[in-house]
Amino acid sequence: MPHPLSPVVSLPEAPAPSTATPGPWTQRYAALGEDFVAPLTPSPLPAPYWVGRNDALATQLGLSSDWAVSDALLQVFTGNQVPVGAAQTASVYSGHQFGVWAGQLGDGRACALGQLADQEVQLKGAGPTPYSRRGDGRAVLRSSIREFLCSEAMHALGIPTTRALCVTGSNAPVWRETQETAAVVTRVAPSFVRFGHFEHFSHTQQHAQLRTLADYVIDHFYPECRSAAGDDGPYVALLQAVTGRTAEMVAHWQSVGFCHGVMNTDNMSILGLTLDYGPFQFLDGYDPAHICNHSDNQGRYAFHKQPNVAYWNLFCLGQALIPLIGEQEHAIAALETYKTRYPQALATRMAAKLGFAQAHENQRPLIETVLKLLAQERVDFTIFWRRLSHWAASMDAGNASVRDLFVDRAAADAWLADFRALHAQDASFYSAAVSARMLRTNPKFVLRNHLGELAIRAAKTGDFSVLHQLQTVLVDPFAEHPTHEEWAGFAPDWAAGIEISCSS
Ligand code: AMP
Ligand code: MG
Repeated sequence: MPHPLSPVVSLPEAPAPSTATPGPWTQRYAALGEDFVAPLTPSPLPAPYWVGRNDALATQLGLSSDWAVSDALLQVFTGNQVPVGAAQTASVYSGHQFGVWAGQLGDGRACALGQLADQEVQLKGAGPTPYSRRGDGRAVLRSSIREFLCSEAMHALGIPTTRALCVTGSNAPVWRETQETAAVVTRVAPSFVRFGHFEHFSHTQQHAQLRTLADYVIDHFYPECRSAAGDDGPYVALLQAVTGRTAEMVAHWQSVGFCHGVMNTDNMSILGLTLDYGPFQFLDGYDPAHICNHSDNQGRYAFHKQPNVAYWNLFCLGQALIPLIGEQEHAIAALETYKTRYPQALATRMAAKLGFAQAHENQRPLIETVLKLLAQERVDFTIFWRRLSHWAASMDAGNASVRDLFVDRAAADAWLADFRALHAQDASFYSAAVSARMLRTNPKFVLRNHLGELAIRAAKTGDFSVLHQLQTVLVDPFAEHPTHEEWAGFAPDWAAGIEISCSS
């Protein structure tokens, strides 16, 4: 008998399900039942076309190598046709948005198909769900391209993230500030459970469901927490494990200059994955107080506030888990670990950026000084670290490529001398190895706002070639790609005028 949440729906215009469609599907999250997910009726998009595809991920998911020419798959990943065995559900969650309790939210435009090769697959923008509230359930082309490119760019940088399999488009109109066109991103992750899922069941006093959710997450993703002693042991261990993963994720963000933009608790992954790419931005010039989200008037999610916001969000998660954790002190103790985990994680990342095999206390002045210098002069963050990585191969007097980034050349020279001196303290120090390590840590290419904008502008005219070329560079961001030197350069003046808001 088919699972009640797994209707095999073939919509009127769409071709019949084909054996070329992916599978077998399993239902893990949807199997938790109607308190967790609601079935949804799909809303087809007319005449879909491929915008972007990720062959490497397709292979991992077991799709056949000819998926690019499959009309059945084009229909499936637009939400126009349901593969045999897949479900169509939206999950319910709540959350704190901009520091304020927002009540019930839920997947307002994500349709979960279920699990393929142990990965959850979601269609974002495939139409209204029971949780759409006043939204249209759609996503526009520009934000879908940004999510697609950035998910894979982050993955290639070694940063925990949800993945993106493909984007399809349709000329169906979608209204935002102006008329735009629709697109669907197929997102992939081991789980899309958010802090907000826990908050939902806690705030609505559904404590049995809260326990079911926590057990689900522990059993599938944190099995090591199961054996923790005491009735509340596994839940305290879970809170501590999520705290650790979140600390690692944010340290990664800070080390590459990634600004998430909307760190609401409903956008925080229980697996510590970067989730919900909206108004994100990679810093161009280093401005710690940079606010990338045009809708964030208070600067709550400014770049330098991200580590503290993550901690605040973890407290919301801890609060939500209190019905399962007997002693409040146990939750607080688990959360307290953030205060050591985050600085440790950041120190590890910064040590790697500086070419050291390990973090050490004596690197701290070097890090503090350079970040202050970069901030004072708004030096381009990515270009600085990349040029430093090349110069590290010689560490000689020919340091113009780095010092010329600064107005205060004397300060730059002094810092470079300190950098060399600290490396030279290691008797086995070998500058070529330091440089090689740094070039594998400090990317040449990140998805700067203006690069995404170039891909979007071309895509709006039906030309996806910029997107595809950008994709090849971003999935291999530590290589030189000499034919795309212009994408590694400074942001043009017009980049400052790009406004990215929550509208997507
Ligand atoms: P976000 O700001 O993208 O994290 O979204 C916050 C909430 O609004 C989530 O519950 C989303 O599912 C929902 N949402 C965002 N955009 C739409 C839309 N166009 N239609 C329906 N729901 C949406
Ligand atoms: Mg969201």
